[in-house]
Amino acid sequence: MPELPEVEAVCRKLRLEAEGAIIQRMRLLRPSIAKGEVEAACRKAKLERVERRGKNIFLHLSRGAILHIHLRMTGNLYAVPDHRFLINTVRAVWELSDGRGIVFEDPRALGRIALITENELPETGWEPLDPAFTVEALAALAKGSKKPAKIFLMDQTKVAGLGNIYAAEALFRAGIDPRRVMGSLKRSKLRRLHTAILEVMSGAVESVYELYSKPGNMIEAERQTLMVYGREGEACRVCGRGILRLAQGGRSTYYCGRCQR
Ligand SMILES: [Zn+2]
Repeated sequence: MPELPEVEAVCRKLRLEAEGAIIQRMRLLRPSIAKGEVEAACRKAKLERVERRGKNIFLHLSRGAILHIHLRMTGNLYAVPDHRFLINTVRAVWELSDGRGIVFEDPRALGRIALITENELPETGWEPLDPAFTVEALAALAKGSKKPAKIFLMDQTKVAGLGNIYAAEALFRAGIDPRRVMGSLKRSKLRRLHTAILEVMSGAVESVYELYSKPGNMIEAERQTLMVYGREGEACRVCGRGILRLAQGGRSTYYCGRCQR
């Protein structure tokens, strides 16, 4: 499943290749993935801006229309040199005036495209890579929270797009036990956590973006070097002790019992 870094990589690439392009028409090859009159909204519209909030992609079109796209499990969105040549897992295509296309490819067809207006943009938490997400912003969120640190980090209404992998990795870097009550963390720990979140997320975005060179070649985050995620029983890369696993909120949390307190 694409996490925030994969979705950010998709958006960065699309911004470079297709922001400002004129859409002649959109064709839905699998109508069931769409909600609203998406084809009509795209007719002779300009793709003004590609925005990401958490794992949601928003294509801002001229005339105020917004397409809300969620890639879900296997979706991908990218530009192709010629809109007439499509592989059979393409579910929607935007035909551009210069002959190129933007395709929504999705083998399992679980992704979604919905037509929304400015008022319907969903409320999401802080973007970890937004400069406005400061230590103070994190401290304000953490204040009084009784949630364990790992559960807190995965709450999309607080920090958006920090999934199971990166929440575990950030806590390891910050040396924080995933069960620690968020509101009890001292300022120094919060500062380390804030730095860790930024490092983990920007590092992941950079490496995913680099690897994400070929269209349709979505590199999963799991293939990167991870410190704790998915490493139960393996030696901690810092202290050598076995990585532990526990269940939190129905998901697995991986951590080092010695490095994280
Ligand atoms: Zn360790």
